[in-house]
Amino acid sequence: MVGEDHDFVHKLVFLGDTEVGKTSLVHRYVYDSLSPEIGRTIGAMLHVKTVNMDGAKHKLIIWDLGGQESFVKLREQYCANASGAFFVFDRTRVETLQHIDDWLSAIYAAAGEVAVIAIENKIDLESIISDEQIQGMVEARSLKLIQTSATENKNVDTAFEELVKVIRGSK
Ligand code: GDP
Ligand code: MG
Repeated sequence: MVGEDHDFVHKLVFLGDTEVGKTSLVHRYVYDSLSPEIGRTIGAMLHVKTVNMDGAKHKLIIWDLGGQESFVKLREQYCANASGAFFVFDRTRVETLQHIDDWLSAIYAAAGEVAVIAIENKIDLESIISDEQIQGMVEARSLKLIQTSATENKNVDTAFEELVKVIRGSK
């Protein structure tokens, strides 16, 4: 297309409880920083990054969420037309993994059966959840699992690459 600076556009949304590290992962990926001074997101924030993958330019429009409370109101708009989603949980808080189905039903209801990748964040910290439990939860829902640390910049790029791969594969 004339004037287009990319071949594909993907809307990616971040799902998961408050404080699991969604904003930190987005900032690490888009700006290569943690921007801790930005504090807790209010409402929804959009971030754009264009990357080369498999010889094509992919424009990623990344949506990050504020507090869970606002999600009920935001949900439709936030999830609508998403190409894919990250479900992020914090390995130091088991409840953040147990809420997986709430987040998955929200995205599937609003956007259909789109690609979702599970992110086990904070791998620089000791886990309180067993690997078996995590594997069981994500495999039962046919999700791929990526282990990340936003703080130590581990696997953050990989998570985005994997999600784009799954999106491309499912089209
Ligand atoms: P959000 O509410 O899901 O957007 O979570 P934030 O990105 O605001 O992060 C919540 C807290 O977890 C902050 O204090 C972050 O510094 C911390 N955090 C985020 N990612 C990591 C990580 O990979 N490792 C550690 N140790 N802390 C993290
Ligand atoms: Mg946030």
